[in-house]
Amino acid sequence: MYANFELDLAADLDEALAVLADADGADVAPLAGGTNLIVDLRAGRCRPKRLVALGRVEALRGIGEDGPRVRIGGRTTVSELLASPLVAATAPSLVQSARLFAGQMVRNTATVAGNIACGSPAADLVPPLLALDAELTLASRAGSRTVPLADFYRGYKKDVRRADELIAAVAWPKPAAGARSSFYKLGRRKGDAITITGVAVSLAVDRGVCTRARIALGAVAPVVLRARAAEAMLEGQRLTAELVAAAAARAAGEASPIDDIRASAAYRRHTVQVLARRLLGGAWQAGS
Ligand SMILES: Cc1cc2nc3c(=O)[nH]c(=O)nc-3n(C[C@H](O)[C@H](O)[C@H](O)COP(=O)(O)OP(=O)(O)OC[C@H]3O[C@@H](n4cnc5c(N)ncnc54)[C@H](O)[C@@H]3O)c2cc1C
Repeated sequence: MYANFELDLAADLDEALAVLADADGADVAPLAGGTNLIVDLRAGRCRPKRLVALGRVEALRGIGEDGPRVRIGGRTTVSELLASPLVAATAPSLVQSARLFAGQMVRNTATVAGNIACGSPAADLVPPLLALDAELTLASRAGSRTVPLADFYRGYKKDVRRADELIAAVAWPKPAAGARSSFYKLGRRKGDAITITGVAVSLAVDRGVCTRARIALGAVAPVVLRARAAEAMLEGQRLTAELVAAAAARAAGEASPIDDIRASAAYRRHTVQVLARRLLGGAWQAGS
């Protein structure tokens, strides 16, 4: 059973931003694919008085190059990510995540901005984007600002987005030569499963020396997080199997998982170590 709400079908970005600007804080919610929001409405987990539907807002769509960066509109769907040669060339980890995301019907409607904004620590597009140093463009009627994804979350389902802002776009730098990224989603099934542990890595290696390391962990803390201490162990160092194993162990130490119906905290922590070692090792070998 739904509580009553008004629905605005915004014709363009200006109209969507005007609705958000005129509304009073949390009383209005952007509606993208609805694959989270409609479920939450039906369960009574949120009761916005007004929804602003973004389906007609063309300015929030599109995948393209923007100088040294790749830029995708916030309304890009998971299926559109999978169909993009530019995403495949610059963000293989994001493609791996998109491939394991839900089922076909949900992939056709679920959007990147909706995945980021829902704030779930198990949101599957977030670890690869975090490891790619993605930045968000937050648009409002007052103007736009850029926020690194690494600075977006403030706690479980809390973020820095103001109620009058939309996630208009997501951008990441094109990878340097020798850089590799990958993602692994561990779930109870191969398809349509909520993530138990998600690990994304992005590694750049120059003649055996790691010049850039990113390790992002999903579903093992209140927010998707970067394992910064583990990254610091790798950067500037000549890679060895022992160093990679030690960094993976450090990454597991940076997680703060919980027990739930899908897995125990101990299992989650163990799988962070196993997956981080495997992904880092693979990226190192492929990049050197
Ligand atoms: C059967 C099923 C399977 C699923 N499987 C997965 C899975 O494998 N992996 C996974 O990560 N998730 C999964 N999900 C969750 C969901 O599909 C994703 O989180 C999806 O990306 C949400 O996007 P959406 O466009 O549907 O967002 P919506 O439901 O429309 O919105 C979600 C939240 O984001 C806000 N929002 C939407 N667009 C914007 C914007 N541009 N700016 C600011 N805020 C915005 C909304 O107000 C709302 O709070 C699944 C859901 C279902 C129902």
